[in-house]
Amino acid sequence: KKKIFSGVQPSGIPTIGNYIGAMKQFVQRQEEYDCTYCIVNQHAITVPQDPATLTERTRGLAALYLALGIDPNKSTIFIQSEVPAHAQAAWIVQCNTYLGELERMTQFKDKSSKQETVSAGLLTYPPLMVADIVLYNTDFVPVGEDQKQHMELTRDFVQRFNNKYGKGKKILSMPEPMIPEDGGRIMSIQDPTSKMSKSDKNTKGYISLLDEPKVIRKKIKSAVTDSSGIIEYDKENKPGISNLLTIFSAFTDQPIDELVNEFAGSGYGNFKEKLADAIIAELEPMQNRYYELLSSKELDDILDAGAKQANEIASETLKRMETAIGLHR
Ligand code: ATP
Ligand code: MG
Repeated sequence: KKKIFSGVQPSGIPTIGNYIGAMKQFVQRQEEYDCTYCIVNQHAITVPQDPATLTERTRGLAALYLALGIDPNKSTIFIQSEVPAHAQAAWIVQCNTYLGELERMTQFKDKSSKQETVSAGLLTYPPLMVADIVLYNTDFVPVGEDQKQHMELTRDFVQRFNNKYGKGKKILSMPEPMIPEDGGRIMSIQDPTSKMSKSDKNTKGYISLLDEPKVIRKKIKSAVTDSSGIIEYDKENKPGISNLLTIFSAFTDQPIDELVNEFAGSGYGNFKEKLADAIIAELEPMQNRYYELLSSKELDDILDAGAKQANEIASETLKRMETAIGLHR
């Protein structure tokens, strides 16, 4: 089986953007691939986090993975900080990555412009992501479109590392991103020109996977559209309604043009109501499972077992990297 690796940061409660862009695929790919899913808490601390909240969200994200349908008998689920090889490998990656490459990353530029003070870790976030991926001999990485640039950096690194240290042999596997054709970039429902993000200070801009049904209805109702009242897909001129169509399509598996036909002449109010229904129908049962799992001991057993499995594979790859570059006796 080909190998999949991906992760989500416990930097907030995952949004429907994270779900459509990445997490939905985590579940769908389990049968066909050998999957490893990480809760990347070390990535989350690249920007300030309250310690108690971070702890809570980390466990919560694990419960959410399971509630969405990730099956620990098929896939490995673990917490990044419980596998030391990530930070160790990230150091090696950093020493083989150029400052200029990191300064060019748009996520770094975006996020650093929003911080009062910028940690060095925010700049070296991509090398940690490279480490996460290569440690599991990954073939495919299901991610949203915003991670495309980091994936290119990862591929450049792998090629460079293998060329420089491999002596004709492949040390690391070459990974490829898996980005959904539609829904790879869900926009904020308050500002459809910026990406929906779970760490957005304006909570109305996103729908979190744990928002209560009445909150979902309210947020969808107040989603920014335009004054034309015509439901059509036109990303350039009607980014608001186009984004809502993309979300609708993702939650119902109905193609966008079919939705456009169905809602022709219906007006935004009715469309939004049906959209809220579709989101709630999928999220509500998942939320019920989430609250059951959160208080179970089962969750800790799964995470313990996941960390053990992950450690075995990651430490093997790390050893291979260290040996290749001369970090051994
Ligand atoms: P933060 O603002 O803290 O970076 P985030 O919402 O960007 O949070 P991440 O944990 O960074 O979430 O990303 C998790 C996964 O979700 C990644 O694969 C990322 O590409 C994807 N993703 C993030 N935002 C979106 C979005 N708006 N649309 C589609 N996919 C997204
Ligand atoms: Mg992000």
